[in-house]
Amino acid sequence: MTGPAPSPVRGIVDLSHPLDDGTPVYPGDPVARFTPATTIGEHGYNVLHVQMGSQTGTHVDAPYHFLEDGARIDELPLDLFLCPAVVADVRGKAPHQAITWADLAPVADRLSPGRMLVLHTGWDAHWGTDAYFDHPFLDGDAAERVVAAGVRTVALDALSLDETVLGGDPAAGFPAHLAVLGSGGVIVENLRGLDAVRSAEPLVSVLPLRIAGADGAPVRAIAFDVGV
Ligand SMILES: [Zn+2]
Repeated sequence: MTGPAPSPVRGIVDLSHPLDDGTPVYPGDPVARFTPATTIGEHGYNVLHVQMGSQTGTHVDAPYHFLEDGARIDELPLDLFLCPAVVADVRGKAPHQAITWADLAPVADRLSPGRMLVLHTGWDAHWGTDAYFDHPFLDGDAAERVVAAGVRTVALDALSLDETVLGGDPAAGFPAHLAVLGSGGVIVENLRGLDAVRSAEPLVSVLPLRIAGADGAPVRAIAFDVGV
């Protein structure tokens, strides 16, 4: 008798929100609906009818989200979605407060090509409440500096990398989206659970569904704690 084989994978942290009919979406986006298409009782097997926008729940934005000639989600190199991450602790921001380059100073020297920047805002605590829409955001100047450092994947545990304004577009537009997506990079939104990540530089996977031609796609985001 031998025991279970030791797994080389340990310390997996789930960074994904569950998807259900109550999933908050960006103002104006389609709401998510999950309804049985068949049931075991009637048909002998369960199949769910899934209706949702491409930017629902924990998801990735491709450049095509904001740029007509930008790469689609299925055209991007996979290393954008699976790489070591630098986690910036930017908790404690007020509603609608900007995250600036000064806030990223503690991690600035670790930002480099091949690394993902993860902004830990703590705003996932507001998921499912009105306060979730009043999240902090990355200002345009900081986004440009992050891109200049070579980072091509920027993630956060809030609804959007730019400010969200109910009833209209933010006055500043979408400078952080344009900086990151304009560099050929991607944005990961609606992460959760970053409190549980212990490694200073976890390996993070945000591999999106391979939806042909899409502007983005939902992901099962996970962190592997390495070196702890
Ligand atoms: Zn998005």
